Formats: sequence, structure tokens, C-alpha cells
Amino acid sequence: MKSRTVPFFNYPEMLGESKQEVLDAISNVIDRGAYILQKDLTEFEESLKSYLNVKHAIGVADGTNALLLALRAAGIGEGDEVIMASHTYVATAGAVHYVGAKPVLVDCGPDHMIDPAQIEPAISARTKVIMPTQLNGRTADMDKIAAIADKHGLRIIEDAAQALGSKFKDQYAGTFGTAGTFSFYPAKLLGCLGDGGAVVTNDDFIGEQVRLLRDHGRDDSGEFVSWGTNSRLDNIQAAVLNVRLKSFDRDLLRRREIASLYQQGLCEIENLHLPPAPSRGDHYDVYQNYEIECAERQELLAYLSERNIRCIVQWGGKPVHQLAALDLGPSSLPYTDEMFKKCMLLPMNTTLSNDDVEYVIATIRSFYGNK
Ligand SMILES: *Cc1c(COP(=O)(O)O)cnc(C)c1O
Repeated sequence: MKSRTVPFFNYPEMLGESKQEVLDAISNVIDRGAYILQKDLTEFEESLKSYLNVKHAIGVADGTNALLLALRAAGIGEGDEVIMASHTYVATAGAVHYVGAKPVLVDCGPDHMIDPAQIEPAISARTKVIMPTQLNGRTADMDKIAAIADKHGLRIIEDAAQALGSKFKDQYAGTFGTAGTFSFYPAKLLGCLGDGGAVVTNDDFIGEQVRLLRDHGRDDSGEFVSWGTNSRLDNIQAAVLNVRLKSFDRDLLRRREIASLYQQGLCEIENLHLPPAPSRGDHYDVYQNYEIECAERQELLAYLSERNIRCIVQWGGKPVHQLAALDLGPSSLPYTDEMFKKCMLLPMNTTLSNDDVEYVIATIRSFYGNK
């Protein structure tokens, strides 16, 4: 196959065909001088609400602040513990740390999601929240997690930064518990042109609290009724998101199509452990990432790199419990430790052409001598 260059994520091309429409939307915002808490943000919040079928959607500064504000609104703080998978972004643990609570890290399973069987043994008298990360565009088995939360009287707050549009049993990621959070970082499923995030909830109290917290405790009449901070989603980013939301479901279908191509092209290579294939079963996966495991990771990464295909290892190569500076422990998590010697992300985004994907597949097959 003819050589080509496949970047991991193509930032300059991320808008695809919607580039002109996005430029027009930005220009329109500038002409109106409408930058902070304006109608494009309200419109985006309404669209997100109806897309996810939830009662409240609040645009905030980014996905990390979304977690922070959701935790604060739920009253989580000093002395509380929050259970999460170690295979998550440091932001999940960081948000818990910054409200004064303690992240308790557990193992994941072969689908790379939090292993529900590891949650119950991690529960203590201080546990208040289970915080599943809906990783790589997949939603965890929320029946199992909800059963544990119910039994122990715990809240569920989902870090769905990587899972907008993903579903479990026809219910969207982010809508299962007290609150769900999203990130609109450019490389996320729904990316804006900078930082952005949102909190969604069906709980009126939580929705109201997050709305106050993101704007200095100011209510609709302009009165300061509580403490708060500045964590608003920029109106200009909301305008960009309004354009991008129009083609969002098509973008997700394209990601599932690429996942099918990878699945078909790579499934017979025994040394590779692939993510679950797109299915019509309980899980509707939208492939924020395509995370594989292979024992020859370093060699494969080098082989691909020599052929102009850029792959990366998620989180820079370390799950949260291995970040020594944070000193969270535990010292070992068997599945996570083993997989972090083997896991890597193949290019997965809507700028890839079928030829790009075929080139990645052909190159991996040639690495394994399959021609
Ligand atoms: C991206 C991400 C975040 C943080 O989102 P930002 O918008 O970058 O703050 C949190 N959790 C997970 C799992 C993420 O992938």
C-alpha cells in the first residue's frame, strides 16, 4: 500500500466540512459582541438537554471544572471518599482532591472500564460517591454499578468526558446518577476550539447549585445568593458547539464505522486484544478512542512511527495509581498494571479517510507478518 502520513489527531482539519459555518457563527458572535452568558450558550444548553433527555444542562469552563462543580453541588468534601477506576485521566482524581475528598482507585476489566466487582471491596464508612469514567466512548454496565450504589446509599457521578452519545441499554452516558460531566476539549467527541465542558443532571437542586457555582453564586436576578466561582462556558465556544452538534450523530456513526474496519482488519491477529466491536447489544460505543493491547507495544509503536503513523499511550503511559507524586495508592492493581505495559491508542477521529484506516491496518498486519 502507498505510504501516507496519519497523525494521531488532525487539529487543523478537525472542523471538516463545517469550517465555513463555524467561521460564520464566530463572526456573528463578534458582530453582536456577545461573549459571556449569551443566547448561544442558552441555545447550546437547551440542545444538550434535549439530546440527552435530561432536565438540566449547564455549560462550564471545561471537563475538569464540570467534575469539581458537580462534586461541590452534591456536598462532597473533607473526609469523604470517591471510588473511581485508576484508568482515568488525572483530572477525575484531581477534582475529587480539590473539593477536599479522597480518590479511592480501583482496577478495570478487559473492556478497560471500571470493574464493578472491585467497587464493593473498596467501600468504607467514608465512601459517598462512585464515579465511573465512561472511558473511550463506552458506558460501563450501569445496572451493576447502580445496584451497588443503591445497596450502600451512594451517589453516582459519571465522568462522561469521553462518552457524549454513548449508551447503556438505550440510556445516555452522563444521565444515570446524581450528575454527569462532559468535556469539549478539541480532541473530544464533540470538540470546541479551546476548553469547554458541561454538567447534566435530572436533580433540580444539583442543577441550581451548579448554575450558581459557575457564576459567583449569582442568580437570574443578579443577586449573589451563595459562594461561587467563575467557570462559565464561553459564548463563542457555545456558538461553535451549536454548529458541531448538527453533525454530531453522523460523526459518531463514522467513528463506529472506523471501529468496524479496525475490527475486521485486525481481529485475526492473536497477539492483539481489541476493544469490544460496535454492537447493537446493551452497549452503544462511540469510540472516543480505539484502545488496543499488544505485548509488543514498543516495537509496534516504533514500526508505525517509521511509517508515519502516530499512535500514543493514553495518559502519557501511567494510570493514576502509578503517579508517584500524588501518592494515592494502591501499590498494585493487577489488570491495570498489566494492561499499561501493553495498551496503546490507534488513530480514531472523523478526519480519517478509509484509505488512512486501511493504511494503518495494512501496516499493523505487515508488522505481524500477515502481509
Ligand atoms: C478530557 C478528560 C477530562 C478533563 O476534561 P478537560 O475539559 O480537559 O478539563 C476528564 N476526564 C476524562 C476521562 C477525560 O478524558
